[in-house]
Amino acid sequence: MSGEKCFDVLNKIFVPKTPKNIEEIPGYTIKYGNIVENEEIVDEVLVSYFKEPKSYTTENMCEISSHGGTVVMKKILELCLKNGANLAEPGEFTKRAFLNGRIDLLQAESVIDIINSKTEKEAKTSMKQLEGVLSKKIHDIKKYIMDVMVNVEVSIDYPEYDVEEVTNSQIKEMLVKVKDLLVKLEKSFNEGKLLKEGVKTAIIGRPNAGKSSLLNAILREDRAIVTEFEGTTRDTIEEFVNIAGIPLKLIDTAGIRENANDEIEKIGIAKSKEIAKNADLVIAIFDSSKEFTEEDKEILEIIENKKAIIILNKIDLEAKIDENNPLLKEFSGNIIKISALNQTGLDDLYKKIENMFANNDINVDNDYIITNVRQKDLVSKAIEDVNKTKETLENGLPLDIISIFIKDILEDLSKITGEVVSDEIIDEIFSKFCLGK
Ligand code: GDP
Repeated sequence: MSGEKCFDVLNKIFVPKTPKNIEEIPGYTIKYGNIVENEEIVDEVLVSYFKEPKSYTTENMCEISSHGGTVVMKKILELCLKNGANLAEPGEFTKRAFLNGRIDLLQAESVIDIINSKTEKEAKTSMKQLEGVLSKKIHDIKKYIMDVMVNVEVSIDYPEYDVEEVTNSQIKEMLVKVKDLLVKLEKSFNEGKLLKEGVKTAIIGRPNAGKSSLLNAILREDRAIVTEFEGTTRDTIEEFVNIAGIPLKLIDTAGIRENANDEIEKIGIAKSKEIAKNADLVIAIFDSSKEFTEEDKEILEIIENKKAIIILNKIDLEAKIDENNPLLKEFSGNIIKISALNQTGLDDLYKKIENMFANNDINVDNDYIITNVRQKDLVSKAIEDVNKTKETLENGLPLDIISIFIKDILEDLSKITGEVVSDEIIDEIFSKFCLGK
């Protein structure tokens, strides 16, 4: 419970072993006792006390730790409600922390991201955001703009002291630098997206090359599976797997397999092309116990300019092709030999994936990463406004007009951290939270 009256509600239902006045209980204290209703014990609990402003919401707060189980928990919740508490809306605790000024909007959003993290790397990035690294970056940019703005305002108010060219060149320099910083932020969105949504990974190969066997082998490993969800197209399933900390969204063409047998020859190549086109990473699998077929060759063409890993499967059988095959020349270094059936060579595949992404493709050590569309759109808008300001300046418009444009940039940035933001946006953001957060 959080809020002014939370201790009053607590007092009506909690009997501590050694009763004390609430004034005598310091914050960050845990007390032992019972939750009671009509003098009957509901459960034996521990209650943690947090006193304003040193709490998650900055308000008085208490947390009741019961033995759990749905019946008892529900009973305690009912007792709280009966004695004056209101049920929190989704994200209400974090919303209060934001409205009371303890965290900004970026930090609040990172709480959702931490809860929803599917991999350690994603959680780590979100944690950095909660620490306020991105917020600080935005504040630094704003401060820089504001320093220049002060000069602009002085020039407007006291034109007699102004050396306009100086102010103009200062603005120009500021715009160039600010744009540079914002473009970097905008780019980081793709990294954030990869972390959040997974590296779109397509497994392609002609029928019987071993696609499903490989997929099953990967998914069978404990460390791999996280979630399974409907793909973006009707006939694909996307499986989220975590390989060496790299989140991969495996695009499984299960649908094709199902209604396949007779049709697969027809749709195979066209479909592979389409899937490969949209993927961040392609895993192309070949049956090494057979010579390359025409279809195999077409697949090799499809992946020519893609980030791809070649898998030579079925190494338990006698080899007809190996890594020295002339058709594989340009893929050397990215060829892995496995037996999906015997599940050998998979570790080499995982190592390969890890190495590919260790080289900066997913740079999670980046200090600030834009993680959601709301933030990205505002950064893009700020860049647009920087461009407009630059144009206005180049067109020789007076400083008071230019200052209006600069204020637009500042406003975009303030919206990112939530200093200026509408109630609607706030409600939308917090509605994505789960209850009790
Ligand atoms: P897909 O059509 O590409 O999905 O291929 P499947 O995974 O269904 O495999 C086709 C056939 O090849 C099946 O009979 C598999 O058991 C077999 N297969 C897959 N991987 C291997 C392997 O590494 N060695 C051997 N000997 N057979 C394999």
